[in-house]
Amino acid sequence: MTRRTPVIAGNWKMNTTPDEGKELAIGIASGCDQLDGVEVIVCPPFTGLAAAAEATANSAISVGAQNISSEPSGAFTGEISAAMLEGLVTHVIVGHSERRALYGETDEQIAAKAVAAAAAGLSPIVCVGESLEVRQSGQAIEFVENQLRESLSGYTAWNQLIVAYEPVWAIGTGEAATPQQAQEIIAAIRAGISGIAGDEHASRTRVLYGGSVNSTNIGPFMDRPDIDGALVGGASLKSDEFVGIVEVAARLSAEAS
Ligand code: PEP
Repeated sequence: MTRRTPVIAGNWKMNTTPDEGKELAIGIASGCDQLDGVEVIVCPPFTGLAAAAEATANSAISVGAQNISSEPSGAFTGEISAAMLEGLVTHVIVGHSERRALYGETDEQIAAKAVAAAAAGLSPIVCVGESLEVRQSGQAIEFVENQLRESLSGYTAWNQLIVAYEPVWAIGTGEAATPQQAQEIIAAIRAGISGIAGDEHASRTRVLYGGSVNSTNIGPFMDRPDIDGALVGGASLKSDEFVGIVEVAARLSAEAS
């Protein structure tokens, strides 16, 4: 079986001033200093990227953005392209459910962003996940499979890809999916990647769970065979809590190796 390095990524959303972000990044970097076997990514808002990049420069922590434009440059007021993030980030979240729901981003736009990110050498963290309505209708697997396929249309940089399964009903609600629910969908996501890109890429791609993860509930997610870590929102804004999540992931990773 392919061994995949776990990933714990923090999505700070629209929080933190540059100074607050710098302090948070320093706290996370120092808390994770002695922890091995987990890839840690922090995703501050654009205004915090430079400070976070500086604060984590001498650590193993990576910095990601929360969004990018699919366009390379030009008359797109207020937008940030992948090229503009050069030297600041290595990762970028695309297709977060808040971008989809609040800003009307379509699968087609998200696919274009993922392609633009990879073309600039960034690793896209492509988010998919069903609403409560879809889950209750019993269509969650089909919905996510379709969303994944459409959100990866034209995408070919398989070695750079990270996928995050984030059921909309679990984000910021304090009601995480059960590890079994997450495993079921993430196994389907891996099968979906296999269908598009083949078994080898499917078995290497890191697929994360996201939705109300904290240091208390992360363990059973990490124990599932297809779940490679977490995309963490609220709990990533407190360095102790976020480091606590990384600690659990690092311990389980060491035990598994
Ligand atoms: C997120 O913002 O991607 C997220 C998973 O948030 P939370 O952990 O707060 O549910």
